[in-house]
Amino acid sequence: MKKTIICTVCPNGCEVVAEYTSKDDVQLSGNRCKRGVEYCINECFDPKRTFTSSVAIKGASRRRMPVRTSAPIPKDMLFACAEEVKKVTLSAPAVCGQTVIADILGTGVDLVACMSLDKKED
Ligand code: SF4
Repeated sequence: MKKTIICTVCPNGCEVVAEYTSKDDVQLSGNRCKRGVEYCINECFDPKRTFTSSVAIKGASRRRMPVRTSAPIPKDMLFACAEEVKKVTLSAPAVCGQTVIADILGTGVDLVACMSLDKKED
């Protein structure tokens, strides 16, 4: 199998070509350094992304709280995560870093708040 990957580990953005038959038989070309090797192998066999979104919040000055996963999760679970966040409504006050959904979809990764929002004064 052959795959072209843009390495995003650093701003160089090398275009890396991976040719492989299995995880133990991967030939890479185009990477300018070794740091891209792990990234490209993961992109071939276990691509992951940090999920970002927002959830509803009641009683704050804003209606939405930005959230993200505390670590990258499997890329093929991003749409399922988007469905999960629709089910959540926070209540102010909320603190940056607080867990919004623990172990989202059994990934072992938490969805966390990205900002602090106080309770709105009436
Ligand atoms: S292969 Fe190395 S130099 Fe190229 S983008 Fe990845 S980390 Fe940067």
